[in-house]
Amino acid sequence: MDIQGKIAIVTGAGSGLGAATAQTLHAQGAELWLVDRDETALDGLKIARAHKIAADVGDAGQVEAAFNDAAQSFGSPSILVNCAGIAPAKKISGRDGVMPLDDFEQVIRVNLVGSFNCLRLAAHMMRDNAPNEDGERGVIINTSSVAAFDGQIGQTAYAASKGGIAALTLPAARELAVHGIRVAAIAPGLFGTPLLLNMPEPVQASLAATIPFPQRFGRAEEFAELVTSIVRNPMLNGEVIRLDGALRMAPR
Ligand code: NAD
Repeated sequence: MDIQGKIAIVTGAGSGLGAATAQTLHAQGAELWLVDRDETALDGLKIARAHKIAADVGDAGQVEAAFNDAAQSFGSPSILVNCAGIAPAKKISGRDGVMPLDDFEQVIRVNLVGSFNCLRLAAHMMRDNAPNEDGERGVIINTSSVAAFDGQIGQTAYAASKGGIAALTLPAARELAVHGIRVAAIAPGLFGTPLLLNMPEPVQASLAATIPFPQRFGRAEEFAELVTSIVRNPMLNGEVIRLDGALRMAPR
């Protein structure tokens, strides 16, 4: 699908992978709806004519109302990239005691339920788009993680949330195929976003050394480049793509 002139929704657009994706899609001619719960971060983004939505992706009513308002003013979206996410680590049974169930639920709610919430609402709108010459009406890209496949100690909640995103990719693609909507997911390894770049230098260096090649953190622009490739390539559908420099995470 061509990006030029399309409406693209990017969640988690206030930082890291989402911010780079928004900049790249904008540079390629998309009109953006930028979603993040951090309003200040959204205000900091300098993207011309972007529509900014301060919302919690896991809140059904909030996101539905915001998407409906935006669609009435600007038209229907053709692209959704879900980047909003959190990555707290906690052991099942650690020094501080047993993991509170709320902690587990919170990660599932933001990462998995939040991604699905935006997916369902965007897909329902995309159904009414005019198809292109390939019959395409929309493209949805979710952000999984290598933790979906080789989660580390302390990552049960995070890995489960990202595994859920990986698992729903194929059934969502199969279901939405009839409407000309593709669904894919990217499973990044270690990317240089605030999440990692706020760690002490020696920790960063030891993490980067675990990546076979290139032996450095991925750049957010490299994630965004894969997003644009998926949008453009109509054969990419129902697949989870690792973007990790051949990294396989160790247990800890
Ligand atoms: P980041 O912290 O830089 O950005 C995440 C953004 O999501 C923030 O702006 C935050 O405000 C927003 N957000 C969080 N919860 C939200 C909610 N409930 N509603 C709306 N917005 C919310 O992180 P990042 O590194 O850019 O990560 C983006 C995605 O990529 C996440 O899903 C993360 O799990 C995934 N990921 C990142 C890496 C990495 O190495 N950086 C690796 C694998 C997967």
